[in-house]
Amino acid sequence: MEKRRIAILGSTGSIGRQALDVIRQHRDLFEVELLTANSSWDLLVQQAIEFDANNVVICDEGRYGQTAEALKPHFVKVFAGMKSVCDLVQSDNIDIVLTSMVGFSGLESTIAAVKAGKMIALANKETLVAAGEIVMDLAAKHHAGILPVDSEHSAIFQCLMGSAGADIEKIHLTASGGPFRNWSRDDIAKATREQALNHPNWSMGSKITIDSATMMNKGLEIIEARWLFGTPGDRIDVVIHPESIIHSMVEYADGSVIAQMGHPDMREAIQFAFSYPHRLPLDSRKLNFAELGSLSFLAPDRQKFPALDLAYEALRQGGNMPCIMNAANEAAVAAFLKERIGFYDITDVVRETMEKVEYVKTPDLGCIFGTNTAAYSTANTLIDKISR
Ligand code: MG
Repeated sequence: MEKRRIAILGSTGSIGRQALDVIRQHRDLFEVELLTANSSWDLLVQQAIEFDANNVVICDEGRYGQTAEALKPHFVKVFAGMKSVCDLVQSDNIDIVLTSMVGFSGLESTIAAVKAGKMIALANKETLVAAGEIVMDLAAKHHAGILPVDSEHSAIFQCLMGSAGADIEKIHLTASGGPFRNWSRDDIAKATREQALNHPNWSMGSKITIDSATMMNKGLEIIEARWLFGTPGDRIDVVIHPESIIHSMVEYADGSVIAQMGHPDMREAIQFAFSYPHRLPLDSRKLNFAELGSLSFLAPDRQKFPALDLAYEALRQGGNMPCIMNAANEAAVAAFLKERIGFYDITDVVRETMEKVEYVKTPDLGCIFGTNTAAYSTANTLIDKISR
């Protein structure tokens, strides 16, 4: 395998740090060209020094001074602001762009990388939720590859290898069920921020951990799968699998089901996106089936987790509706993390925002940005009412 030059957008977050751990294990195969962070400038500086990055961007322009000062002796070029990310990501010195920023804010730079025909290792699922059709059309037009980093979608992608052209009968997306799987609806209604942040299987950032507790994460993943694999929503099923060993499954027309397995470790999916189609060693925990004994599965409880139906509904309506849902969810999760609203207020805000913001059937990119702003503001008005 030829050496690959990598840009990590969002290198100080959970996925970004795990990606650097993958690179740490294969310094001969991967090279860090660009690192970007929102505001964690001190960690960004450490990473740039350790991995000898050529360029870094600190998005928060107020932190530019400290970052540039700290990296001056190390000959790392320092830039600030989202526009710099969008410019630098198009550089000829980059082969793979890992999009591991959080939320809708990742859309602009992902589109810049897609337009430059880069190989995208996609960890920012909100990009495909908000603008799936637009991003996939641009990727086809500019010959940009999109490799999933979300563990379920990496699993599906791996289950599809060797079956080119075969129709997918069904995608079975597995879900851990999150921390509230066995809680009653009344108890979930009173859940605190700390309880919701306590995910049983996966160690992740705070936004996605709350999304896992509401199961909106699975809802976003249904929409992400629809765009990555071209599979309509009624062929994407969610099954609760508390052990998180099977990362997802593909069922073919003959009834044969292919599953991808492993202990929950995001680095496997990240590494496979970096090394595709090759497989490299990784210091991950290996499966011992005799020790596992059994795996269990059950249907999700849609009354306890209304986010799933909201996502299916957003996908069914299409247009800018998934973007509205995503924006409302981002606003509501942020408010929940600040302890301004309760747990079920998150999905209530999403539902009401989906009813209020203007629906557009065939949005262009400008409309998607406008929708995101409108939905955020509608959701925040609802949140203000609840938290008062
Ligand atoms: Mg996932």
